[in-house]
Amino acid sequence: MKKVAALYMCTGQYLKLWPEFLASAEKYLLKQCEVHYFVFTDADHLEGEETNSRVHRIFQKPQPWPYTTLKRFEIFLQIEDALKKFDYIYFFNANCEFKAPITEEMFLPRPEKHEKMVFVLHPCFYTWYNYEFTYDRNPRSKAFIPMGVGRDYVTGAVNGGETEAYLKFCHLLDKRINQDLAKGVIALWHDESHINWYALTHPHYRLLDASFCYFEDYPLDKPIYIYLRLKSHYFDVDTFKKDPPKSQLTPREEKFNAVSLKLAQKIQRHIPWLPRRKEK
Ligand code: UDP
Repeated sequence: MKKVAALYMCTGQYLKLWPEFLASAEKYLLKQCEVHYFVFTDADHLEGEETNSRVHRIFQKPQPWPYTTLKRFEIFLQIEDALKKFDYIYFFNANCEFKAPITEEMFLPRPEKHEKMVFVLHPCFYTWYNYEFTYDRNPRSKAFIPMGVGRDYVTGAVNGGETEAYLKFCHLLDKRINQDLAKGVIALWHDESHINWYALTHPHYRLLDASFCYFEDYPLDKPIYIYLRLKSHYFDVDTFKKDPPKSQLTPREEKFNAVSLKLAQKIQRHIPWLPRRKEK
């Protein structure tokens, strides 16, 4: 039986999202595998931890927005030795909820296709041109992607892979995020911007469509496997996400982006297949 480590962070108010995550994962997530939950939290108790020996609580100090999500790779790597005992590692945002059975065939990387990592198309961008993606456009950031480049915009909310590949991905992005921070730079969408840089530069991943990470309140013309629950039903995000630290672009960088945007628009409008790709 394959062993899967599910990484989950819930500091502060995000703890409220845990019970439904666990209940739905136990019902639907990779039922053929042995799934263990590694939960990084400041809570001193987690629902289910007494009765489910696959729930492992790890203390994580709460940090101001956006540092918990931005520093996620450093947080995961604290338990690297424990994670090495698993065949696969997956991360799930705290507000994920599983809605239908997810099998190995649907969700794991496929060795016959030389895949080691799995990313999911972001529910906002899956039919857009790549110059419309909200990649990081700051050339001083390690997450920078120039206009007109890039095939997929993947979500930071769900991703995974074979253990060795996933740990390498964590190490590399942790290093690059710290290099940014040392220069006072924070990528536009934090970890997600760096994950998109990784996907662009390491393209042999399994790409799942947005039914593996879809908004609770949006319609979709196919079954949805993983919902992103509305956090506003659980707590008021604005109380702690107000005025987050951001990197400003210089006027020269803004101008460079505007010119390359025009160029990408001109080229791509005439090649409609270019920025779009569906699951093979
Ligand atoms: N997170 C957390 N505590 C916080 C902020 C974030 O545990 O105070 C974790 C949680 O797992 C969450 C993830 O970081 O799902 C990403 O944050 P959020 O869901 O708010 O990001 P967004 O939806 O804006 O991408």
